Amino acid sequence: MKEIRKKNTDIPDRSRRDFIGKTIIGGAGLTLGTGTPLFAFSTADSGKPAIMGGTKAFRETFPIWPVFGKPEEKALLDVVRSARWGRLNGTRVAEFEKEYAKMNSVKNVLGVSSGTNALYTILGALDIGPGDEVIIPVYTFIATYNVVTLNYALPVFVDTDIETFQMDARKVESAITPQTKVIMPVHMGGSPADMDTMSSVAQRWNIPLIEDACQAHLAEWKGKKVGNYGLAGAFSFQASKNLNCAEGGAIMTNDDAFAQTCYRFHNQGQGDARVGYYGTGMGTRATNVRLTEFQGNILLAQMDRMEAQVKLRAENAAYLDDQLSRIAGITPAKLYPGTTQSAYHLYMFRYDREQFGGLPREKFLKALAAEGVPCSAGYGKMNLSDYVTNLATNKHYLKIYGEKTMKEWLERNQCPQNDKLAGEQAVWFTQNMLLGSRNDMDRIVEAVRKIHKYADAVNNM
Ligand SMILES: *Cc1c(COP(=O)(O)O)cnc(C)c1O
Repeated sequence: MKEIRKKNTDIPDRSRRDFIGKTIIGGAGLTLGTGTPLFAFSTADSGKPAIMGGTKAFRETFPIWPVFGKPEEKALLDVVRSARWGRLNGTRVAEFEKEYAKMNSVKNVLGVSSGTNALYTILGALDIGPGDEVIIPVYTFIATYNVVTLNYALPVFVDTDIETFQMDARKVESAITPQTKVIMPVHMGGSPADMDTMSSVAQRWNIPLIEDACQAHLAEWKGKKVGNYGLAGAFSFQASKNLNCAEGGAIMTNDDAFAQTCYRFHNQGQGDARVGYYGTGMGTRATNVRLTEFQGNILLAQMDRMEAQVKLRAENAAYLDDQLSRIAGITPAKLYPGTTQSAYHLYMFRYDREQFGGLPREKFLKALAAEGVPCSAGYGKMNLSDYVTNLATNKHYLKIYGEKTMKEWLERNQCPQNDKLAGEQAVWFTQNMLLGSRNDMDRIVEAVRKIHKYADAVNNM
């Protein structure tokens, strides 16, 4: 089978050519005070928005995900022919763990069957249970919440820093109670949460810090990979994630004893001396969430592509930041100053309808999609969803915590900043779009600019 999309390998050259070509054609590059050339209108105005019958800004397709080729085919065939399909009699998962640990400069990596199960294993190894509280961001994938309730612990939401889309580190301390057993920030969209503040709060209160890094493969805070800051970090290799084996995940930890406990939790309480995990120590509950050899070998093949992909996403994201922030009403998500690398699992920005003639976000998204630019509003208000509020009347929760506590829990769940972000402002692009060419990025910018220009007309359609 051929590589589906050759494009990903030839982007740097092509995009440079496109950019230079346009500069010459466009001619009049404006100059900012900093001396940075500003090609704010680097592309010809292609007229009306597509939703009003105009020409689409983008008529190609963004790179498909996953990117794959011969190495992935070989990886699968090799495992099939080895007749060793599970980690208990194979070598590929262990090899992946070793390589991924090296890549992230961490002592231990444990492959598991999903990101959810990475978090579940970590909470299991910490013996989190009924009566315990776990602090989580309200702006996250539902799995972050689910692993808490699977253990009959109480999820405590922290409101969002609207500028960065991250859990607001300044609000973590006030969420701590004597029952708090874990602080679990998420590196949302692949960009690090404020790890300096998180770490100092966790240290001051002596509460384990667990990083939900399921979106943040190879992201860095102050030059160190995420997953290294807490007691442990969780990663996801689910199909949409930046490292993909269909379904899978991993735990990272520099604590050898904790790594042992996690191994046993994920393997029915058993160690495996063959790969250096022994069957002694703490822990009285366990499950089976082992990764398979097929997945381990696919991950090894996909890993070879990672560094180049991370670099390309970051370049395109920086370009979009620069270009989109010139359009009134578009504010790209900020990175905290400690960020030395974002994984850009998502490209996120805030949309201000007031600057678009009152055009509601939903209509903006429709118009953008019509231009050929896939986009979404991202997460909803998780704390206010029926799925979450129904916990207050769950019979087990009523038995464990009582009616009064669960009523108070509903009140504690207020997150006004997140209501604004999730309810009105957030817009997302997916990571595969950032693997496109510079020209693809220009088409995105053109699409947004067109809608901005014709916002009143689109709104009155
Ligand atoms: C994807 C994701 C998970 C869960 O990972 P799965 O592999 O899908 O189980 C958990 N937390 C966050 C923030 C995620 O994005």
